[in-house]
Amino acid sequence: MEEKIIYWANTAKTKFTSDGLITFNRIFKNNPTPTDEDLSNIAKELESDTKTIREKFRRRHRHLKTRKTPTKKKVVITKAEKNINDDKQRSTTFLKNLNNREAKLFMNYMINEDKCIDYINNHHVPKSININDIWKMTSDDHRNGEYFSKWMRCLLPKEYETSLPPHNPRLSLNKNGTMPSKLQDKINSFCRKQTIAHFNILKHHIVLRATDPSFTNLTNRKNAKTGSHLCDTNGCVLSEHLVIENFDINLSRTRCQGVTLLVRLGNETSVGRIIQAAACRHGIINDDGGFKNSCRKLKIYVQDETSINYCKSLLKK
Ligand SMILES: [Zn+2]
Ligand SMILES: [Zn+2]
Repeated sequence: MEEKIIYWANTAKTKFTSDGLITFNRIFKNNPTPTDEDLSNIAKELESDTKTIREKFRRRHRHLKTRKTPTKKKVVITKAEKNINDDKQRSTTFLKNLNNREAKLFMNYMINEDKCIDYINNHHVPKSININDIWKMTSDDHRNGEYFSKWMRCLLPKEYETSLPPHNPRLSLNKNGTMPSKLQDKINSFCRKQTIAHFNILKHHIVLRATDPSFTNLTNRKNAKTGSHLCDTNGCVLSEHLVIENFDINLSRTRCQGVTLLVRLGNETSVGRIIQAAACRHGIINDDGGFKNSCRKLKIYVQDETSINYCKSLLKK
């Protein structure tokens, strides 16, 4: 059973609730200029109609436009810039033009510079259970506690250890910067051609370029492919948690509660046991039983009376 999210504060469905606004912000961030088909999918997702959603996008764009501080200097757009004038297109073009070896070098350099750490997003595990108890659990097959602790584990830049970033972080690349020379040469030449001094790349796109051959689909504006986090964790750069998929699938992961575990808790003499594990609806057949593509979240049901009482007592604390 999925928890029902209330998106709208009024019956006419024109004003968002705070949950609704959070979801809309995420949608807007991922896809600020949706196609008609996207709009209809978004409307369905938000339980509204295309007209209302289109209006929400229009207003958001107007708001962003008026909020921008005016620059004194008149910006001259050169011919080269005219071809690529938005950051997303610019960064994907840059990544596409790297060869595979350079892409891997780029990824490794970034992960190393960011001093990335193992991280488990505890928002994605029920608070009623001590998470470390789960990781010790046994099971009939290979999907025991240890399997799930590895499966959940993100790779996160150290700076986000105590608080996750509100948006997916970007790496800033500067002309004449301090990247390894092979990469810096490419950056310099790209900046020269684009007549720019710097540009930004979404960090998870760098990982996807290095690990997912379908990355080039992102540059095709006609299809709505996006880089998506299976772990729904901003900043995660673990390649196993990143996929390229349709925008509406990416969107539906926010609401998904992830994998369902049926467990029996342990006691003084024995560790607990995972009785059953079921992939979420995003799992694809033949991908490790659906677990490879499942959302990295756990929904846990505890078996037997004693354990249920135990959980309740923890909740009361
Ligand atoms: Zn992750
Ligand atoms: Zn899912």
